[in-house]
Amino acid sequence: MMNGKQYVESLKALRPRVYYQGEKLDAPYDHPAILPHVKTAAVTYDLAGDPKHADLMTATSHLTGETVSRFTHLFWSVDDLVRKIEMLRLIGQETGTCFQRCVGLDGINAIWSVTYEIDRAKGTDYHARFRKYLERLQREDRMTAGAMTDVKGDRSLPPWQQPDPDMYVRIVERRPDGVVIRGAKTHITGAVNSHEILVMPTLGLPPEGADYAVICAVPIDAPGLTLVFGRQTNDERKEEGGMFDCGTSFGVVGGESTLLFEDVFVPHDRVFMAGEGEFAGSLVDRFSAWHRANYGGCKAGNADILLGATTILAEVHGTIKNSIVKDKLTEIVHLVETIYASAVGSSAMGTQLPAGNWLVDPLLANTVKQNVTRFLYQIGRLAHDLGGGLLSTLPSDADFRNGEVGGLLTKYFAGKQGFATEEKRKLCRYIENMTSVATLVEAMHGAGSPQAQRIVMLRQANLPEKARMAKKVIGISEK
Ligand code: SF4
Ligand code: FE
Repeated sequence: MMNGKQYVESLKALRPRVYYQGEKLDAPYDHPAILPHVKTAAVTYDLAGDPKHADLMTATSHLTGETVSRFTHLFWSVDDLVRKIEMLRLIGQETGTCFQRCVGLDGINAIWSVTYEIDRAKGTDYHARFRKYLERLQREDRMTAGAMTDVKGDRSLPPWQQPDPDMYVRIVERRPDGVVIRGAKTHITGAVNSHEILVMPTLGLPPEGADYAVICAVPIDAPGLTLVFGRQTNDERKEEGGMFDCGTSFGVVGGESTLLFEDVFVPHDRVFMAGEGEFAGSLVDRFSAWHRANYGGCKAGNADILLGATTILAEVHGTIKNSIVKDKLTEIVHLVETIYASAVGSSAMGTQLPAGNWLVDPLLANTVKQNVTRFLYQIGRLAHDLGGGLLSTLPSDADFRNGEVGGLLTKYFAGKQGFATEEKRKLCRYIENMTSVATLVEAMHGAGSPQAQRIVMLRQANLPEKARMAKKVIGISEK
């Protein structure tokens, strides 16, 4: 396994084509907009080397018997599913933000399970190819970004009826030695600082959509692949002198990119689905279930930091002893533990897939994510309520450092004795940034928008069966 420093060095050996704010970046990993996200992902590597966290951060590969990072490990038991959630909460607490590696992890598990089923039904050899690929990922501890979301064009039309056929990533050419893909994926978390991109379809596909049914692994610096790193609220702050007003030296959310595939050639040994669209729906459902459960881990960890920051700020304000303040902090605890409990629950109720790995309970997992779309806003509201108007009006760090007004600002923004004004400012900036539009919208739409969860929830809830149970209890005869 690599440590954080080795991970950063391994990135620097790569030559991806990255754009940000209209410029091609020669050294993307050192750019102030991207560096915080590199730093956050590096924490996942450093924690894996810490013996204190070995149980959560590492696992024994069932492929090789070697100790591997849990971020490259298949969920080989219920215990693995539960430990993943615990791991995500831990790293969420260590970084206070999104650490990006879980999308690739869930992608690996989804591809493992689906390739097995395609091979069994069709006599292909995708699973053996993927096994080999995964062994290498584990051995080299490479970071993969899962790229599922297509740009989608006109959402009332399926991929193959779009006026522009490139609105979903597709195979444009089949060669004897591989395939050529074209299209764009967007909102891709951690892509810019990953070694590899796992391209996956975003929806189930009938035979007419076969060209859109493609799973493959693309190196980040593959010819024809361009990444455009997205903007976020407050992102100019990263490029100011010092990061103070960012509130965190780790990134705010996951550092998302849009990926442009301009006829990228992918050799056969990196292709894990090429036309078998009838399996794409299972891939998406499983991936989503795993990833939606995650949000009860990582967001609980992030919210722990927000709760901690809000608590200290209440101390600084001198309001902490007020019973109403305590009740509001308790409400945050309730919201955080509710999402965590359901993430653990969805893992505990996992079932084994034919390929051997374990899937979380999809109804519970989707419920986790549905709650996250609401609870993170409520947690943010409570933090804003307790933090006060300063969260939106505090002067900049540059003003506090200014020789003429800085001293006066420091004097007048002082809080309770024993706390420096600078500490109060840090707390305000952290809460401000970590409840910003970027964070909240990520909680809303990351791992799928709320309606996507409701579709699964309704399907999984089995209303006819509930009606049958009700009839039995109430005494209504079956018609
Ligand atoms: Fe992982 Fe959470 Fe970030 Fe998704 S939002 S990649 S689950 S840390
Ligand atoms: Fe996310």
